Amino acid sequence: MVSTKGFMMNLQAPPTSSKNDDAWRYLSALLPGGVNSPVRSGKYVGLKLPIMKQGEGAWIEDIDGRRYIDCCMSWGALLHGHADPAVVRAAQKAVTQGSTFGASTLLEGDLATLIRGAMPSMERIRFVSSGTESTMSAVRLARAATGRSLVVKFKGHYHGHADQFLVEAGTGVSRLPKAASRGVPPEFVQNTRCLPFNDNDALERFFEAEGKNIAAVIVEPVTANMGVVVPDRRFLTALRRLTTDAGSLLIFDEVVTGFRVGLGGAQSLFQISPDLTCLGKIIGGGFPAAAFGGRRDIMELLAPLGAVYQAGTLSGNPVAMSAGNAAVTKAHQPGFYDSLQCKMDSLWGPVEEFLEKRGSLACVQRCGSMATMFFGARSVEGRGEELLDDAQFRRFYRFMLNRGVYLPPAQNEAWFLSSAHNDEQISIVRDHVFEYCKENL
Ligand code: PMP
Repeated sequence: MVSTKGFMMNLQAPPTSSKNDDAWRYLSALLPGGVNSPVRSGKYVGLKLPIMKQGEGAWIEDIDGRRYIDCCMSWGALLHGHADPAVVRAAQKAVTQGSTFGASTLLEGDLATLIRGAMPSMERIRFVSSGTESTMSAVRLARAATGRSLVVKFKGHYHGHADQFLVEAGTGVSRLPKAASRGVPPEFVQNTRCLPFNDNDALERFFEAEGKNIAAVIVEPVTANMGVVVPDRRFLTALRRLTTDAGSLLIFDEVVTGFRVGLGGAQSLFQISPDLTCLGKIIGGGFPAAAFGGRRDIMELLAPLGAVYQAGTLSGNPVAMSAGNAAVTKAHQPGFYDSLQCKMDSLWGPVEEFLEKRGSLACVQRCGSMATMFFGARSVEGRGEELLDDAQFRRFYRFMLNRGVYLPPAQNEAWFLSSAHNDEQISIVRDHVFEYCKENL
């Protein structure tokens, strides 16, 4: 059990200790960089981040027993905080009945029903185990459905680590993309094009030139991976119109925004129906589950009905499905998203007002229960034009960590609140943000 008293006592403790250093040495001797996903290393903030041990609600606790108010929430995967009792009960029950069968269960139908109820564009759904699998499979399907190869993504958007998405926008006449990671052969990215986000002119021009060759456009409809940018509605509308006219498919990557910005995700918020949708994070209730789905005619091209191969030993895993069912069921409670919105307004409203009045070179951008505080810009439109102040972010990050607030350790990321964050925790976070802003901005 994590008590508030314990938290207060540990509030000013420094984030590093010999125990933490030892743990990093131990892990680094076994895992490249000590981690299983690069951002966890703390490289971007120049810190050995606390190694975590447990969490409860909005608290997360490191191996030294220091407690933090968690505003990262496993990168948005936890909508109800850590160890939510309903999710834990569901997972426990499932695991005692067998953790995997490699055969179908009704749980998959139950979760698919909840998802389709919230996002009617997902007429048919296939579960996978990670967001990467979902985007990779959706693109394969789109290529098969259209008989075309070209895929358009946007600069700064992240769709997982499949080869074809690891591209940097090209420059000059060719605009051919370059691989953004070693180990990705140039020919693996030659059918991916990278355009500036939120830029209607660039989009129109590209469709004029290449429309007939485009299999799909994949987009984070509200971005998390360049920090939170809510696009101009006209951009998403143009995307829908241009893809339809060109016979290309529109893929909404709602791995983060699904069940996060509202029950129906960004597609409901913007009233745009994509052809395919990718989900992840929240739908697994903290366990590895993700999904892609969409128009029935397209989805039924998948094996075993059609000739598009896609499979997974642990796809639709019963423990993950049970946890996901519990998490998504809770999100369906009346007033759930209104209450999250109140928490966000209470945290950010006064900060936004302060920054604006003061004319600070910083801003908060948010959508539903995700937000980013950007340093070095008064607004970020997502075209990659703003030069953000990373040094300031690093100072801010350390300040917050020292005061017991755990944030995603990079500026271009989203902070997430959960239904477990209470008023007291929110006011603690807000007070620390204010303290920093008053002294530094
Ligand atoms: N799409 C988006 C929008 C994401 O944010 C992520 C991961 N953060 C992915 C896809 C990939 O998901 P995963 O890490 O589960 O493979």
